[in-house]
Amino acid sequence: MFDFVYDYCNLTKPNDSDISFFENKYNEARKNFWNFDVVKFANSLGIKVFMDENLKEEGCIEYDREYNTYSITINAKQPKNRIIFTIAHEIAHFVCDKALIQEQRVFREVGNRGMPEERRKIEVRANKMAADILMPSEKFIELWNSGDSVKDLSKKFCVSEDAVKIRLSYLLGVVL
Ligand SMILES: [Zn+2]
Repeated sequence: MFDFVYDYCNLTKPNDSDISFFENKYNEARKNFWNFDVVKFANSLGIKVFMDENLKEEGCIEYDREYNTYSITINAKQPKNRIIFTIAHEIAHFVCDKALIQEQRVFREVGNRGMPEERRKIEVRANKMAADILMPSEKFIELWNSGDSVKDLSKKFCVSEDAVKIRLSYLLGVVL
């Protein structure tokens, strides 16, 4: 389900062992499907998650060189759905953009405006992977085909209705 991370727009492929570590932990976290908790999932990957009301960006992921550990900080002022999506997005960076995070120490979510093409691709990939984490395709399609509305799916997967619409368009070509 995370196949696109291997070859997306010529971006550097993540390390195979990072991917398999991630997939194992993900399968564990989804064992009881609807019990999925994105913070616990981040913790299971060894990432601490902090909430900060004063953060300027939506979120950031930080590498601690001394202890070789990662932490995610999220802007606490966002709506809950947005917080969940941002955590999943930062987890995607952790898997796909480890070298970049290590190099920058603090990898911040900056606005899209004026973003260099390479960075934009990195952000698009992280968003796609966040959608995969939060709305696994098989279950998502099954529920949509069984008659769930955008609102139903948004509630079940704890994402915004916009995120559901993007997912529908991406997976099924449904444009609402
Ligand atoms: Zn990002």
